[in-house]
Amino acid sequence: MTAPQAACLQAALQVGYHLLDRGGPALVAVEQTIRVLEQSGLFNAGKGARFQLDGIRRMDASIMEGHGLRAGAVASVEGIVHPITAARMVMEETDHVLLVGPMATTFAEHFRLEPLHTPAPMRRLSYAMMLKRQKPVRNRHGTVGAVALDRFGTVAAGASTGGIALMLPGRVGDTPLIGCGVYADNQSGAVSMTGIGEGIIRIAVAKEICERLAEGKTPKSTARYVLRKLVARIRGAAGTLVLTPDGRFTISHVTPRMAAGWWDGRGKPTVGDRFP
Ligand code: ASP
Repeated sequence: MTAPQAACLQAALQVGYHLLDRGGPALVAVEQTIRVLEQSGLFNAGKGARFQLDGIRRMDASIMEGHGLRAGAVASVEGIVHPITAARMVMEETDHVLLVGPMATTFAEHFRLEPLHTPAPMRRLSYAMMLKRQKPVRNRHGTVGAVALDRFGTVAAGASTGGIALMLPGRVGDTPLIGCGVYADNQSGAVSMTGIGEGIIRIAVAKEICERLAEGKTPKSTARYVLRKLVARIRGAAGTLVLTPDGRFTISHVTPRMAAGWWDGRGKPTVGDRFP
């Protein structure tokens, strides 16, 4: 993790924590924390989103709260800085959970979300060439995500991403899929994932973690169990943030590093990129 990334993570944690400290809902804390990371351009989300093989940025995001199990998501959305806010608006302004592609973009434009200006692609690959190149490879600077617990005992989780390296146009990962990249339930916990989406989807990791939490397992043992299963069964690679409604929390990863942090309002926010 670079020094600017560490500083940005700390700033994002402070924004989220101060909202919670003033009695704000976990959902808003998650959204606002992620907006800081999307705005920074330092991570693979929002201004820093990765390009698909045709030179276009298509982004995914989702958000969920654990009281009413309300959720919203966008996939393959283009031209906005804050897909996480588009996801929240899908949750709050529609009866749907997920909007995709150009119509997700139209939705975001309708609500006048901040536009993301990207230069037109410099060169175009043939589809045959794109097929040859595509391969699920995780980026060095990954997806952004957050989990939060408010003073009413409600948990929330969210994530926002530009996807993975070398992806075909239209590829969608785990991030906008509720139960895969994100889940939140006040009867179990909140989970936000990062890693290679193709594996996370096939194990439905976020929901599996929540199910084990509901059986009374600890966040740490649950996260380790499910991530090891991901590796053993399908050679996946991922990291997770897990938070329970009674305030237990873990960061766990089976990737070499995962830039992450937490803050409970005391001292300075803790950030790091290895969480054994
Ligand atoms: N999970 C994201 C995806 O597969 C990528 C990442 O976390 O770096 O789209």
